[in-house]
Amino acid sequence: RPARLPVALSANPYEIVVGSGLLPRAGGLMAAHLPSRRVAIVSDANVAALHLPRLRAGLEEGGFDIRAEVTVPPGEGSKSMAVLERVLERILAAGADRGTAVIALGGGVVGDLAGFAAAVAMRGMPFVQIPTTLLAQVDSSVGGKTGVNLGAGKNLAGAFHQPRIVLADTDTLNTLPARELRAGWGEVAKHGLLQGPLWEWCEACGPAAMAGDPEALRHAVLESCRLKAGVVVEDEFETAPEGGRALLNLGHTFAHALEAECGYDGTLLHGEAVAVGLGLAASLSVRLGHLAQEWPGRVMEHLAAVGLPARLGDLPRGFTAEALMGRMRKDKKARGGAMRFVLLRNAGEAFTTADVPPEAVEALLRDEG
Ligand code: NAD
Ligand code: ZN
Repeated sequence: RPARLPVALSANPYEIVVGSGLLPRAGGLMAAHLPSRRVAIVSDANVAALHLPRLRAGLEEGGFDIRAEVTVPPGEGSKSMAVLERVLERILAAGADRGTAVIALGGGVVGDLAGFAAAVAMRGMPFVQIPTTLLAQVDSSVGGKTGVNLGAGKNLAGAFHQPRIVLADTDTLNTLPARELRAGWGEVAKHGLLQGPLWEWCEACGPAAMAGDPEALRHAVLESCRLKAGVVVEDEFETAPEGGRALLNLGHTFAHALEAECGYDGTLLHGEAVAVGLGLAASLSVRLGHLAQEWPGRVMEHLAAVGLPARLGDLPRGFTAEALMGRMRKDKKARGGAMRFVLLRNAGEAFTTADVPPEAVEALLRDEG
């Protein structure tokens, strides 16, 4: 039986359903959460070829009327204003009304794009997330952030738009390329470090999950969603001055600098950058006297055990400390404040701070690079 995780947002409470065999039952699972049985499905070409037939059957069996099936090209390039416009035109040309739900079937790209389309079409259509990558199941489908990229930067046009229900069918992960599955684990490991006991579970069961063990994957998705949903409920719009959603950026100050240096060219998947970022965040926490010495080794050993890059030297290209510092300074300027880091006192005890001497960060990058 699938697990049901309530997300107790005051204005829009909803449920995350995690388990196997959900696509063929999608109609029955969704019906009570939607205002009508009219839907439009947005997917990408890879996912549509593999999983759309089962979703279609599950919706038809539940008496749903599929008004449109919109398939976009796979990849980050589809998170654009041009593709957004095409998706909106297709949905509206199919006679969708404000009671028609937009369903995102795919990874984070499709979820962010379709969610933004649902947020702005007729000032808001009901939205359903059916995430099909590990990253989307453990991270991007939870929290209500939607959007597309602009020339000025990633995710710069967007909206908060919460789904009516999330169906995380772990069967869909069976067809995911191994590298994409491992990249999703970068965010699971992050959630483990933020949560505490989940970290020890990751160390024990991460390799089994990466080998495709369905029970381990189900547990990883469920507990990641529990952690992220708890944080989101406390800080829905990312306005908490300290802590709150900002804690989810553990490892990300470094990860964003690495990704920016690569120019989002596919050399580095986001979860791979996050993995290296987690090791660096643990090392920085030790150098600043917050965390016990053993931790960076422990974090990197786990990342290596699941096949993720654990340190800068594991990445396919080199990065200079100067270049990464430059990226982090730019990032900080874009956010209009000081360079902020999420650091650890222990697994389960993260905190945000702007009180990090840049020389300490630069020395770390020089020593590790
Ligand atoms: P993705 O959506 O590009 O999917 C990765 C690849 O896997 C694609 O080629 C896709 O076609 C393919 N794929 C997806 N599901 C598959 C399946 N079941 N079987 C076979 N192939 C499959 O990438 P992603 O890593 O899922 O998401 C990355 C995006 O998520 C980024 O744009 C990022 O900004 C966004 N994101 C958003 C949030 C948020 O809170 N909204 C959080 C984190 C990341
Ligand atoms: Zn991330």
